[in-house]
Amino acid sequence: MNRRVIPLNELSAVPAFSSAPGAPRGSVVDRLARPLRDLRISVTDRCNFRCVYCMPRTVFGHDYPFLPHSALLTFEEIERVARLFVTQGVEKIRLTGGEPLLRKHLERLIERLAALRTPDARALDLTLTTNGALLARKARALKDAGLTRVTVSLDALDDTLFKRMNDVDFPVSSVLEGIEAAHAAGLGPLKINMVVKRGTNDSEIVPMARHFRGSGTVLRFIEYMDVGRSNGWNMTEVLPSADVIDQINAHWPLVPLDAHYPGETAQRWQYADGAGEIGVISSVTRAFCSSCTRIRLSTDGNAYLCLFAGTGHDLRALLRGGVSDEQIADAIARLWQAREDRYSQLRGQAAGGPRVEMSYIGG
Ligand code: SAM
Ligand code: SF4
Ligand code: SF4
Repeated sequence: MNRRVIPLNELSAVPAFSSAPGAPRGSVVDRLARPLRDLRISVTDRCNFRCVYCMPRTVFGHDYPFLPHSALLTFEEIERVARLFVTQGVEKIRLTGGEPLLRKHLERLIERLAALRTPDARALDLTLTTNGALLARKARALKDAGLTRVTVSLDALDDTLFKRMNDVDFPVSSVLEGIEAAHAAGLGPLKINMVVKRGTNDSEIVPMARHFRGSGTVLRFIEYMDVGRSNGWNMTEVLPSADVIDQINAHWPLVPLDAHYPGETAQRWQYADGAGEIGVISSVTRAFCSSCTRIRLSTDGNAYLCLFAGTGHDLRALLRGGVSDEQIADAIARLWQAREDRYSQLRGQAAGGPRVEMSYIGG
């Protein structure tokens, strides 16, 4: 477990506020001129799955010290800090975890976040990433609360293989029911995330593409990443996205598409026959740090400037310490202005220090 944190008052040496040229009012930029746009909020560090590449059972067993309830940010605290992030440029919020649908009354948090507005009075893009296990039950309430879209993770259609990967014997059929329920509730266009591990589920690339072609969902293939220190990551298990594209292209020709917006993590491809699009997220073989606009907030209120960061910055201490909104907004701006993280670009040259676990800050 790695949860190293530094207090935010250590950032006082960073120069004062600046805005990105041409960026919306209030948008701060980091040392590499990247604006702050996306906030990922982990609402729980717990999960009902034990995916081998994320929360391996050997590490996240019965005696794992998950956070006590008192450590979690309350919905009031999350709403307040999210509002202050929005004043600094955030336009998109993704709820994640652990498994976000395990957090009790999550719809109440979504209602609060859905009411936030950017400085120029726009609603936020408010989304959630889930393993889908509880989605069939919750999709309607999530939509009614104001959630815009969902992303569902699914690594295989083969039931035996999927159960081996989630390691809790959870069947594919229930995730597919969740996906249907999300469609029916209007939480589309849905995205489906498949982490590809060479030698484990690469045989599922074509079946997954076949299943989701023409369904209106966007299937995205994610390169297996070296997040955290628990999953025993090895480069030999990474299947480059270029191979994924080759495999699918051999069945159904693909045409590259432009990004929706600068900084989009996925490279988009379209089926030439009009059956929709797919995406590949190539964090290992084609780093996209130069356009990374994401900040991550852990379940207990630490801000991380990179998925691979070793240290978080304690916003909860400010939220619970009688600090004013203005001071917290200023701390967020200074934190972002000091950022120079670009782990994926430097992969291989980076030191082998501690790294936060994915389930603690979300993907
Ligand atoms: N529990 C939810 C889920 O699985 O969708 C949300 C949290 S999960 C950490 C977010 C995303 O990270 C999932 O799509 C998951 O597949 C992905 N992920 C987890 N570990 C990963 C790894 N080592 N490499 C690439 N993606 C990973
Ligand atoms: Fe849980 Fe998501 Fe991690 Fe799987 S990837 S163990 S579902 S948090
Ligand atoms: Fe962003 Fe860090 Fe990932 Fe680079 S490695 S894209 S900076 S989160």
